[in-house]
Amino acid sequence: MHRFFAPQDQIPTITGSDAHQIKNVLRLKIGDQIELLDGTGKIHTSKIIKIEQNKIDCEILTTKQDKAESKIKVTLAQCLPKAKKMDLIIQKCTELGVNQIIPTLSERSIAKGEKADRWQKIAKEAAEQSGRSIIPEISPLTKFEDVLKMKSNFDLALIPWELEKETSLKSILTTYQPIKLLVLIGPEGGFSQEEIELAQQAGFTSVSLGQRILRTETAGMAILAMIIYASE
Ligand code: SAH
Repeated sequence: MHRFFAPQDQIPTITGSDAHQIKNVLRLKIGDQIELLDGTGKIHTSKIIKIEQNKIDCEILTTKQDKAESKIKVTLAQCLPKAKKMDLIIQKCTELGVNQIIPTLSERSIAKGEKADRWQKIAKEAAEQSGRSIIPEISPLTKFEDVLKMKSNFDLALIPWELEKETSLKSILTTYQPIKLLVLIGPEGGFSQEEIELAQQAGFTSVSLGQRILRTETAGMAILAMIIYASE
């Protein structure tokens, strides 16, 4: 069944690009059923009762609480990469189950083309497509130092670092079973030595993701897939 997110106060009415999608792309008809989600994990199985140009009215048949979301809540603080890469990271990490993405400004990140609205839209579409019941929050652009201060909101904070030789992600995941996890990924140019030291002082654990150096957009997807796989 097709899934659509709509603001809580609008449900069971759909407007905007989703209304266009239902009417003109999927060509759904009156009587067809869809799932409406309010972004909090509630799934309303609904029947289409009226189709207008930019507005679809539905009737809610049943409501249930989604159980498909992973127990582990991963926040990815991604130091800004070159423009288009962030779109890809948001899309893929949403598919993989990320809970929140914090676009982060570090010493070597490229702060150009920051597009908050577009990023939230990419997250919404990827959440619909991949059958999620929540839309990951894309936070406002945040400075590296301020991400470090968020440590206390999490059970565990990791900073993947290609020069880390002692601690592997695997060893961490077999020791801890965190529920709220913060992961801070460097930009194309990586972190400076000073940034790594600041993060460690703030309580972050530096981890290796293996012998090979991954591109910034690969690192987030890879660690997320590993963490979620290990927790399910
Ligand atoms: N500056 C480095 C690579 C940066 S890769 C260089 O050019 O040599 C971008 C980010 O991905 C890093 O900051 C780190 O957070 C993560 N990363 C990539 N490969 C990694 C690995 N093998 N282990 C841990 N983190 C890695």
